[in-house]
Amino acid sequence: RSSGEKFEFQAEVSRLMDIIINSLYSNKDIFLRELISNASDALDKIRFLALTDKDVLGEGDTAKLEIQIKLDKAKKILSIRDRGIGMTKEDLIKNLGTIAQSGTSVGFYSAYLVADYIEVISKHSDDNQHVWESKADGKFTVSEDTWNEPLGRGTEIRLHLRDDAGGYLEGSKLKDLVKRYSEFINFPIHLWASKEVETEVPVEEDESAEEESETTSTEEEKEEDAEEEDSEKKQKTKKVKETVHEWELLNDVKAMWLRSPKEVTDEEYTKFYHSLAKDFSEEKPTAWSHFNAEGDVEFKAVLYVPPKAAHDQYESYYNSNKANLKLFVRRVFISDEFDELLPKYLSFLKGLVDSDTLPLNVSREMLQQHSSLKTIKKNLIRKTLDMIRKLAEEDPDEVHDDDKKDMEKSGENDEKKGQYTKFWKDFGKSIKLGIIEDASNRNRLAKLLRFETTKSNGKLTSLDQYIKRMKKGQKDVFYITGSSKKQLEKSPFLERLIKKGYEVIFFTDPVDEYLMQYLMDYEDKKFQNVSKEGLKVGKDSKVKELKEAFKDLTKWWKESLAGENVDDVKISNRLADTLCVVVTSKFGWSANMERIMQSQTL
Ligand code: ADP
Ligand code: MG
Repeated sequence: RSSGEKFEFQAEVSRLMDIIINSLYSNKDIFLRELISNASDALDKIRFLALTDKDVLGEGDTAKLEIQIKLDKAKKILSIRDRGIGMTKEDLIKNLGTIAQSGTSVGFYSAYLVADYIEVISKHSDDNQHVWESKADGKFTVSEDTWNEPLGRGTEIRLHLRDDAGGYLEGSKLKDLVKRYSEFINFPIHLWASKEVETEVPVEEDESAEEESETTSTEEEKEEDAEEEDSEKKQKTKKVKETVHEWELLNDVKAMWLRSPKEVTDEEYTKFYHSLAKDFSEEKPTAWSHFNAEGDVEFKAVLYVPPKAAHDQYESYYNSNKANLKLFVRRVFISDEFDELLPKYLSFLKGLVDSDTLPLNVSREMLQQHSSLKTIKKNLIRKTLDMIRKLAEEDPDEVHDDDKKDMEKSGENDEKKGQYTKFWKDFGKSIKLGIIEDASNRNRLAKLLRFETTKSNGKLTSLDQYIKRMKKGQKDVFYITGSSKKQLEKSPFLERLIKKGYEVIFFTDPVDEYLMQYLMDYEDKKFQNVSKEGLKVGKDSKVKELKEAFKDLTKWWKESLAGENVDDVKISNRLADTLCVVVTSKFGWSANMERIMQSQTL
């Protein structure tokens, strides 16, 4: 076996392994869910290929899509075997020697938390069986496998456990871990479990050496013996312990999303989220929606708002296509890279869709063009926006003034207090991007907007609340944009509006400038940027008089500023204490937009 080809890990892999071993040592258990999740991915891949070519599944045991775990106490080996797609020699070198695209997941290398030597035996239909092995010392070896039993197809990972990881040789411990972390894996996970059983065996009148060989005899022989002995009267028996092995199924493979939502507990939804999103933070998702769509296009879906935004959620928004929904067709996993299921602005959601309407035996490309996808997408958007709206409706912090008393009295929504503010902080930007991108849902999305205003006392408020508080005769919704609320509060544009009791929205996120180019009106109300031309605040008869009185001055002023990019000089009623102010023309960029554009070109 010294003939294997030797390789060095990519430098990043060695570093990752060090990090894993040094930082996750108190959380060793995770290795099992990582290896089971890899096995499940490999099984998904072969099952997907089998949709268009039945023959790839092979025959007999090889065709069984399952995961098997075996424990060898004597040799201290824990092995996990799948009948998935397997890896060629090249795959073994690439997949287990370098870090894949994301590089963020712990993955396969977490196995070194519990093992100091690992063998990966793998058989892919395009290649002979190979063994990858490494002691995590910066090197690994790959050899053609001429000594192990042929796998048929798939992968067996043999973990030679560290001295301090002997606990993982206990069947009961593994059963617990599978229950905890891998409950929703869609393939059967079997454990080669040992059981002590007591059997009664006959005792010879005089106990002799012969007796011992009886305990290892086969069932059949025992039965025969028993029959013989029956004829002999008053035969004595004694109990002996025997160890027997059998495959024990550890998980319930019925797809969770097929159950009725009424039968699924909150705890199960939370656990399902963790397994689906591969998020093991133990945090509860902020919201979920589980539904069944019937009619021309039938599908079931479970959608989740994650407990918090991914650290890079808004970093590469416009150049990433990361969709987070898994697509199943009749229980068969198809893909988690189906961008057609959700618009980009909802890419923060996690979940799955399982459709009975989509065809199974077509290529992914053809599926991508299937007309039902449009219907599914429309439905998913609507359900998502409903789910988010409900988050706000159930949040006592969101209920203002009059309705508040009733809710506070009941006290039953304490747990939901502040949940919408939290959602807004994490994913508010997505709602704004939605208003920009999705004209057909603009109004529904605008309902979900939250912001601070001159009257909100540091709290968030909504357009509906703003409109409820509008002054008599006020036609437009007033807003101002800038880099911070603190800066805006000093703005001369607000002086008179505040004095007269009008409320003005503060928009301080750079995306807000773009947002307001798309959000033209809401519930018959227009939006007016108070730093722009066209602000009308009630009636003021004095303006006409003043215009006449200062005619010469404004004329002189305008002429003096000619060539300074000033269109006009006007008498206005927008100010209170400040004498004059520069206003942007109706269709020009606001000063804040100038600022944003400048910072982007720099
Ligand atoms: P990830 O699962 O996030 O891709 P891992 O470190 O867990 O990262 O696995 C690395 C790669 O090794 C996988 O992407 C896959 O290509 C390959 N791999 C790991 N385990 C198996 C397996 N049991 N069968 C087939 N391929 C596997
Ligand atoms: Mg993995």
